[in-house]
Order: sequence, then structure tokens, then C-alpha cells
Amino acid sequence: MTTTLPPVAKSFFTLCKKCDADRYHTVLAHTSSTAAKMKCEVCGSTKKYTLPKTQSRVGGVVKTISAKTAAARESARRSTHQSEYEHLVNKNEAAKAVSYSIKGNFEANQKLQHPKFGIGFIRAVQSDKIEVVFADEVKSLIHNRP
Ligand SMILES: [Zn+2]
Repeated sequence: MTTTLPPVAKSFFTLCKKCDADRYHTVLAHTSSTAAKMKCEVCGSTKKYTLPKTQSRVGGVVKTISAKTAAARESARRSTHQSEYEHLVNKNEAAKAVSYSIKGNFEANQKLQHPKFGIGFIRAVQSDKIEVVFADEVKSLIHNRP
């Protein structure tokens, strides 16, 4: 039985529900110490792979109960954010990133290369501001500065 997650970018043979057969899946990212996001190499569907639970199941239950704490909410927010970011990365895999500059004039859904925050995706655009989804968080940046 597997007890550790397959490494990112490696192929992993597991059941694809969409194909209804065992397929090779490319590991896209580890979403936690026991879960990974992977993509079926045949149909392209993404799925979450979770390691088979052992005695650590108790920990999982305790975590659910304490979900009301700020820390748990923060971690839930982060994992939601991470899946949004990963979704954008996959969706825009082939897109060319444009370099960020306050003098630039950007459009929604553009892939952005920021010198400090890395690759981001523009979610919303106002006349002087853009909202960009980066790997760690969503940031509001200035643009269209004359
Ligand atoms: Zn499939």
C-alpha cells in the first residue's frame, strides 16, 4: 500500500472515474501532506487523490470539529485559493505571461509575470487597478499609470 504521495510531475497509476478505468495520472500538486491533485493522461480530467487513511483518521475528525476556529478558516481559505490558482495555472498553461508594470494597461484573464510575486492571473480590472490571483494570495495592483 502507498504511504507517501507520488512526487509532483510524476505519473501515478490510479482509477479515473471519468474513464472508469485505471489510468496514468500526472501529479499536478500536493494539496496537503496526504492529498495530491492529479490529471488523467487520457481524458484530461483532474481529480484529488487522497492517501488511504490509517490511524490518522482521528486527526481528520478533530480537525473537522474545530473548523470554526480562525486558524481552520484561514487554512480552508488558503486551500480554496490554492485550488483556484492551480485551476488558473492549468487553464492558462499555454498562455504567454505579460510583464507587470504600473504603466501597463491590462485586461481581465491575462497571465501576468510580476518581478516579486511571480506568475499571477488578472481576475478583475478597474480603470487604475487590477486584481491579480498570485500563488499565495490575491493582490490589488496599480496599472494604467500615465
Ligand atoms: Zn480519465
